[in-house]
Amino acid sequence: MPETAASPPKSTSRPPPGGKARPPFASLLTWILPALFLAGSWAYQVYGSKEQAVPEIRYTDLYTLVDSGKVESVTLTGLQIRGKLKAADKVDGQSITTFRSLLPAIEDRNLLPLLREKVVAVTVKSEEVSPLVRVLESVLPWVLILGAWVWMSRRAAGALAGGPMGRLLAGRSSRVDTAARVQTKFDDVAGLKGAKRDLGEIVDFLKAPEAFRRLGGKVPHGILLVGPPGTGKTLLARAVAGEADVPFFSVSASEFIELFVGMGAKRVRDLFQQAKQVSPAIVFIDEIDAVGRSRGAGLGGGNDEREQTLNQLLSEMDGFARNDLTIVLAATNRPDVLDPALLRPGRFDRRVVVDRPELAARKSILAVHTRDKPLSPDVDLEVVAAMTAGFSGADLANLANEAALGATRRKADAIWAADFAAAYDKIVLGDLRDAKLDAGERKRVAVHESGHAVTAFFEPCAESPARVSIIPRGMALGVTQQTPGVDKHLLAQPELEARLRVLMGGYAAESLVLGTISSGASDDLRKATEIAFEMVGHYGMSERVGPVFHEHRTAHPFLGQQIALEGGGTSDATVHTIEEETRRMLNDALRATRDLLSTHRSELDDLVSALLEHETMEKDDLAKVLRVAAT
Ligand code: ATP
Repeated sequence: MPETAASPPKSTSRPPPGGKARPPFASLLTWILPALFLAGSWAYQVYGSKEQAVPEIRYTDLYTLVDSGKVESVTLTGLQIRGKLKAADKVDGQSITTFRSLLPAIEDRNLLPLLREKVVAVTVKSEEVSPLVRVLESVLPWVLILGAWVWMSRRAAGALAGGPMGRLLAGRSSRVDTAARVQTKFDDVAGLKGAKRDLGEIVDFLKAPEAFRRLGGKVPHGILLVGPPGTGKTLLARAVAGEADVPFFSVSASEFIELFVGMGAKRVRDLFQQAKQVSPAIVFIDEIDAVGRSRGAGLGGGNDEREQTLNQLLSEMDGFARNDLTIVLAATNRPDVLDPALLRPGRFDRRVVVDRPELAARKSILAVHTRDKPLSPDVDLEVVAAMTAGFSGADLANLANEAALGATRRKADAIWAADFAAAYDKIVLGDLRDAKLDAGERKRVAVHESGHAVTAFFEPCAESPARVSIIPRGMALGVTQQTPGVDKHLLAQPELEARLRVLMGGYAAESLVLGTISSGASDDLRKATEIAFEMVGHYGMSERVGPVFHEHRTAHPFLGQQIALEGGGTSDATVHTIEEETRRMLNDALRATRDLLSTHRSELDDLVSALLEHETMEKDDLAKVLRVAAT
């Protein structure tokens, strides 16, 4: 959605966020370098021109002059010799009174005795360094050190610009410095009827506050949007601001947690101050649980910082006057961990649930995300919605985008149903994998997947298989996909048991058909163990354990990260019983699956052959093979 930035709040003396403050040294440096250059060139000019004024003579001419007693004095500086004549003389047709020459690098043992003999005054000087070199020698190291320091500090400031240190230097978050006027409207948010209805009241309030105040009603200032990731909480908050046509301040609470204690609180203060300046406004705080977790839950600086930030947030929420037109929307997917103080009346006392979309909502979300994309007539969004149970709005937006990218790669003019299917596979199963399986491995994968599919097909409470494939994708060497038919909100015990059996299908088929099991079943066993544990420890589905919820989890040798040993009141004996009951459920499932597969052994074998031949079997072909085999 196009966004335009509203005018930023007036009166800020700080440099613009993100803009680099030039250290004073940088400008100093820009003066020093040219000055140094000028001084150097001046010194060179002066020194060089003096040098040029003294005529240079050949070494042999030097000898001739000394030998003939015309030289009054000489000065030796390293390999340089300069001299003065007693009277003007001609060398190479040029009249000179002074001269300069270079001595050979090999020591001339005759020159000094000759000079002494001819009574020439000899002065020896240490080697002369040009003023330019002297200036450079003394100043350049300092200039280089200063330059390196300025360079490093500017680089560090740039690297940290997005981090806590950079923000510390900048003083406030760039994200909250300007409010955006958003164009998002409720029409852009598909489904979520209940949430839109609840938030519609806020829009009405922002548009006509007087109507609400007339009867003394109080509109909530803090609303908590609760829901899984990607379900449209941010989108909804933007839509509220867009519908009410008010500035939208968005910040993620994790950005409040700064390196130094007190900075987060300062940033909260800044945020609310700015919002109040331009109110009516919407302040959206994403991931509020990052600062809003129950206080006193830990030690250390990070925790102090979080608590201070939370306290500041609480006091800002309390500071709203009755006629304040700033509404704070906060999003979280962990409302259970929030500090009760945050949820009490006057603060975030309204809760709007933003759940994963159901079939109809999925269809309308897909419609929103394909409205500017050409669809071929074979695309039925109802079918796409049906196969995407459990997808969030963000997943559906991603699916539509992947399908469009697939069609673009094909250089097609429209998106086909096959593009949606390929996009679904890519998102759910991962990209095609270049795994070269040998014949034995391929057969094992076919047996394993057929085991899942046959169990899912014949198990009355299982979701029917929609597709089986032995083409390696993502982390998997093969896959059996099931579709629930309708959106499920609850799972009854027989359905959970059916899930366990389908999960055991691969393991059971391998041992039944091939006589051995392989490492390929580990992920199935992990998932099955998780379900069985939850049935026993959470759902009260084991008579021995009873209707008790065992909340806390910790590492356990048998169940991995499953059972708690501390804090939750779960005794060792109960842990042991849960462990035994979980194992019993898994063994029962395995036994039932083995029986089912033995009964349908011929169907299993037929499916294995069909899979080895075709690699992928869609729902109808699958049913045909199994039914044909069954008759
Ligand atoms: P998180 O909890 O991870 O921050 P969120 O709930 O805030 O996620 P959004 O950022 O609002 O989710 O959604 C991500 C994207 O998913 C949106 O930009 C939008 O493209 C799409 N989307 C989600 N829900 C919907 C919806 N109901 N209608 C249309 N698009 C949606």
